[in-house]
Amino acid sequence: MEIEIERSVKEKSKVLVVGGTGYLGRRLVGASLAAGYPTFVLLRPEIGVDIDKVQLLLSFKQQGARLVEGSFSDHRSLVAAVRQVDVVICAISGVHIRSHHILLQLKLVHAIKEAGNIKRFFPSEFGTDPARMAHALAPGRVTFDDKMVVRKAIEEANIPFTYVSANCFMGYFVGGLCQPGKIIPSRESVSLLGDGNVKAVYVDEDDIATYTIKAIDDQRTLNKTLYIRPLENILSQREVVKAWEELIGKKLEKTNILEEDFINLIEDVRLATYEKIK
Ligand code: NDP
Repeated sequence: MEIEIERSVKEKSKVLVVGGTGYLGRRLVGASLAAGYPTFVLLRPEIGVDIDKVQLLLSFKQQGARLVEGSFSDHRSLVAAVRQVDVVICAISGVHIRSHHILLQLKLVHAIKEAGNIKRFFPSEFGTDPARMAHALAPGRVTFDDKMVVRKAIEEANIPFTYVSANCFMGYFVGGLCQPGKIIPSRESVSLLGDGNVKAVYVDEDDIATYTIKAIDDQRTLNKTLYIRPLENILSQREVVKAWEELIGKKLEKTNILEEDFINLIEDVRLATYEKIK
C-alpha cells in the first residue's frame, strides 16, 4: 500500500507557478499544494525587501512548496527554473503592468521553448476568451490583443497548452454589484448598466485555481481552452443586486447608465490613456 502511494506521488507532475504571490497566483499555489502536486514558485530577486511578498513566499515554503530563483531579466535563470518542472502556470499581472504583460509572457514562452521539457503551459489568461473579443472597445481590448499575441507565440513554438477562460473574477465584479471601479457594495444605491438584464459569468477565484489545477493531467484540456462557467453563476446585474438586497433586507435606489453614455465614458478613458502615452 505504502509503495503504491509513493508511486502515485512520484508520478505527479511538477508544477511551477510564475506570479505566485499575486491575487490569483497565491490561490494557484494553494490549489496545487492541496492537490498534492510538487509545487514550485518563482522567486524573483526584484521583489527585494517587499516584506509581504517575502512572507507569503515563506508561507508557501512552510506548506511544502519549493522556491526557485529566476528573473525575467535573466533568460538563463528562467530556462533553468522551467527545466526543474513539467508544468508551468503563469499568473502575472494583467492590470498593473499591462504594457509589460506581453513582453514578460513572451520571455517565458521563449524560455519554455528552449527548455523543451514542458508538457503543459497555462499562460496568464483567466479572463474572457480573447479569441472571442474582436469586437471589444479600446482601451480595454489591449488586454485581449496582447493575450492573442502570446497565444500565437505559444502555438508557433509547439508548446502544449491550456488556456483558462474564467470570465469575471467574483471579487472584482460581484462585490461592487457589477459597477466598474467599485468592489464594495453600497447599502443605498446602484447604477445599472443599461437595463441591468445582460448576463455575465462570475467565478470564485478559488474555483478558478482549483479547476486550473484539475486540468493539468486532464487530456481533454490539452491544446484547448477550458471554459469555467458554473451555470448558477451566470447572472444579470439585477440578479446580483437582488441577492444583495435580500441579504441586507433593503431595496437600493437604482439609476440607469444608458449604453450611449457608457460608451462615451469608455471613449473618455481611451482618450485619457492615449494622452498619457503620447
Ligand atoms: P496581480 O496584479 O496580482 O499580479 C500577479 C503577479 O505578477 C505579481 O504577484 C508578480 O509576481 C507578477 N508581477 C507583477 N509585476 C511584475 C513585473 N514587473 N515583472 C514580473 N512579474 C511581475 O495579478 P492578478 O492575479 O490580478 O492577474 C492574473 C491574471 O488574471 C492576469 O492575466 C489578469 O489579466 C487576469 N485577471 C482576470 C480578471 C477577470 O475578472 N477575469 C481580473 C483580474 C485579473 P511575483 O512577485 O510573485 O513574481
